[in-house]
Amino acid sequence: MEHLDVSEALNVILDSVPPLGVEIVTLVHALGRVLAEPINANRDLPPFDVSAMDGFAVRSKDIAIVPMALEIIEDIRAGDIPDKTVQQGQCARIMTGAPIPPGADAVIRIEDTQELSTLSVVIGKGVKPGNDVRLQGESMKEGEVVLDAGTEITPGIVGVLATVKAKNLAVYCRPRVAILSTGNELEELHDSVDLSKVPDSNSYALMAQVQALGIEPVLLGIARDDPFELEHYLLRGLEYDVLLVSGGTSVGVHDYVRPTIERLGVQMKFWRVAIRPGHPLAFGMTDSTTVFGLPGNPVSSMVCFEEFVMPALRQMMGNSRLYRRTIIARLGHSIKFQSGRTEFIRVNLTLDASGYVANSTGSQSSGALISMAKADGLRVVPSNSISFEAGEQVTVQLLDGTAFQSDIGFKV
Ligand code: AMP
Ligand code: MG
Repeated sequence: MEHLDVSEALNVILDSVPPLGVEIVTLVHALGRVLAEPINANRDLPPFDVSAMDGFAVRSKDIAIVPMALEIIEDIRAGDIPDKTVQQGQCARIMTGAPIPPGADAVIRIEDTQELSTLSVVIGKGVKPGNDVRLQGESMKEGEVVLDAGTEITPGIVGVLATVKAKNLAVYCRPRVAILSTGNELEELHDSVDLSKVPDSNSYALMAQVQALGIEPVLLGIARDDPFELEHYLLRGLEYDVLLVSGGTSVGVHDYVRPTIERLGVQMKFWRVAIRPGHPLAFGMTDSTTVFGLPGNPVSSMVCFEEFVMPALRQMMGNSRLYRRTIIARLGHSIKFQSGRTEFIRVNLTLDASGYVANSTGSQSSGALISMAKADGLRVVPSNSISFEAGEQVTVQLLDGTAFQSDIGFKV
């Protein structure tokens, strides 16, 4: 079985994970989903020429010479349908969004006018035809595609969908995800504290990482390091679209995940990736389940989720932006590396006059979960790196937020 670098492993994963099906959701539950079908405009927007300003609808040729007094023939508000025609020497008071009346071809902002009475106004400024008029169909034309399939539904997109009355939407399904922790030493959240045990944090950190993608995972619990117990739990996990197993994937004598998972017919594609933290990372598939074997160390488990599981889940959900957003920051301190693996260093970001500065959050031990929990991002160190000086430009992958990008954004 091969030992892959980070990009090779990602390629294997993304080439393998199947796209999920499509389901219908209402607009109220559409945020964060991805459109499976294009959306067409159901009408022109605006539906007719409308005013872009509060002011007066005029015939531009009437105000070639200013100041010019005009008769006000009516008031037009948004939602009104004007029926009077603006004749020579006339205008109509008009509100933003209201239809331009017949005869008028431009709008003068209220700031450029002076009202003499409710029936007469002096226009102080000449304008060209079309001034401050939003033309029919300017924002969208009936029948045209306004949103492509593959569009991620953000709050703004929800607004566009409401505009075109798209009440029910075809979106990609979200995978059903199961999470399993393994290890005799693990202590359930609800058990009382036993100092000889290790609290199971991976189940919950992974749960939260999955939830952050809008998926509600199922926690299968803790399987002891026993082939039969492990088999029982793994079989349950294989009923889901995605199974995340943490711990037990190394080559220790009590690491039974590997033999058990292979016995159950999971086609394993790799067991090792050149990444720190996170070396033992396994990936495989059955016909219906994608399986990730994550390292037991709490930080390694979270980092491997970030780098490999998240892009896979996003791809399954139809997203085209699979990767966390990266930024360039200056390094706050010098640092040396042993080359050979792509490293992900937990950093905090501060902002100074020249941009972001990245500083390590402290211990980079793969058990130091606090330093992961407090990190703003992961600084990516390519595997051939030897040393960096303070002030050097480095790439940082942001850990929080909902901004994703299509390119991975760093060299491995
Ligand atoms: P393993 O990969 O099973 O060899 O585990 C590596 C380290 O991670 C050991 O110190 C485990 O105690 C720890 N570990 C494994 N699973 C978990 C978990 N679910 N929560 C917290 N720590 C864990
Ligand atoms: Mg273990």
